[in-house]
Amino acid sequence: MKESDITHRLIVGFEIHVQLATRSKLFCGCAVEFGAAPNSRTCPVCLGLPGALPVLNRRAFELSMLTGLAMGCDIAPVTKWDRKSYYYPDLPKNYQISQYDVPLAHGGRFEVPHGDETVSARIIRAHLEEDAGKTLHDTPGCSLVDLNRAGTPLLEIVTEPDISSAEDAHVFCTELHRLVTYLGVSHANMQMGQMRFEPNINVAIEADGREYRTPISEVKNLNSFRSVRRAIEFEYQRQVQDWLADPGYVFKERPNENRGWDDDRGVTVFQRGKEAAHDYRYFPEPDLTQVEVTRADVAEIREGLPELPIPRRRRLIEDCGLSADDAATIVSDRATADLFDGAVRAGGPPSTVSKQFVNFWAKLANDRGVSIGALGVAAARMGALARMVDEGTINATAANRIAERMLESSESPDALADAMGLVAVLDADQTREWVDQVFAANEKAVGDAVSNPKKAKGAVGFLRGQVMKISGGKANPKLAGELIEARLAAPRDD
Ligand code: ZN
Ligand code: MN
Repeated sequence: MKESDITHRLIVGFEIHVQLATRSKLFCGCAVEFGAAPNSRTCPVCLGLPGALPVLNRRAFELSMLTGLAMGCDIAPVTKWDRKSYYYPDLPKNYQISQYDVPLAHGGRFEVPHGDETVSARIIRAHLEEDAGKTLHDTPGCSLVDLNRAGTPLLEIVTEPDISSAEDAHVFCTELHRLVTYLGVSHANMQMGQMRFEPNINVAIEADGREYRTPISEVKNLNSFRSVRRAIEFEYQRQVQDWLADPGYVFKERPNENRGWDDDRGVTVFQRGKEAAHDYRYFPEPDLTQVEVTRADVAEIREGLPELPIPRRRRLIEDCGLSADDAATIVSDRATADLFDGAVRAGGPPSTVSKQFVNFWAKLANDRGVSIGALGVAAARMGALARMVDEGTINATAANRIAERMLESSESPDALADAMGLVAVLDADQTREWVDQVFAANEKAVGDAVSNPKKAKGAVGFLRGQVMKISGGKANPKLAGELIEARLAAPRDD
């Protein structure tokens, strides 16, 4: 069969592991710490020694509830723990404590506006479990096990297969990552493996008036948004081509697969057939009591929900008049969004504050490899700088230069403008003199503007730029623009 004989549709669901930002592990007091000496952050509980008893980390449970609520899930009034058995050197107990039939959160939905569309997936469940240790294969002749990570709290989020393109998957994962960092439930550093995406991918194929489904492949442990997108694109093509080569099989005739992603080659690689739940011999964990959550507990956690990124973006567009792009930049991380709101509360006009965020604060932050929120400039000072531009005390170029100085100096933007000689000249005579000079030096632009109304607007901008230049940035651009326009309208006066 040829590709032109069939139509096909991609089906993607996700399993996502989020490492919670607790100080200690899920069932013992060991520190959660990346990069410590191997096996130095362990104790009898996370080493799985006989007789050691687990005790639940309350904070991990609360962070999980918070995330569940932010995704619109219901919180189970009673939740329990289960042993998921498998045998692997980095899993000292030979089972993982997880939640099987009663996850702590279920039945939510996460929706992301994307252009004019919405990317949306139902959340089946979110449950808490412990991470395994790490097996290291870089010593010749042997493998080494580091159990520092064993027992680290993970929230596993499982979605319905509602995603239908690699692009949508990318949008969904990016926004879910933003959500957990906004909530402060995870640092979600992807390079450090603190958020791992596992798409479950298959394809519905219509041929001869029938629908076929390819076997589901689960691509394990993707730790960048780019690899999520590329792995899904690759699997989509691979599964369609596999089916075309052997269209005889239907769903379940071939087993589902676990596959790994080879980023260098840009391909997925078969790892093993996928386990079914019965392979894990789940049974209730006898060493932990069940957790009861009252409605008052849920209400209290709900109180702690901050304004979430998506409604926050909408507010900046609708209430502050920001463009969608600018709102996205400002809301990209919580500290930056908080700083924006703080600058506006301190009297900075929203449109000017956002311009300054996008035009120079973002660049200054980028140069230093941090977010705007991490620049260390107080919101009130940012607000004051924006207000000075709005009031015409300084122009936009001067604001940029003052901003650079604000990073090293704790002086007010007012004082810095004074000290740097950047307070705008509002004097009309002085400004007219600069305009005269610019008109004399740029006869062509002036001629164009007069003879061709279509070019007039561009010419005004150009001439104003020249005025700013010869005034050393001290001219008031609004006044200069007005004088230029007036003079272009009556060019024959002189
Ligand atoms: Zn421990
Ligand atoms: Mn898991």
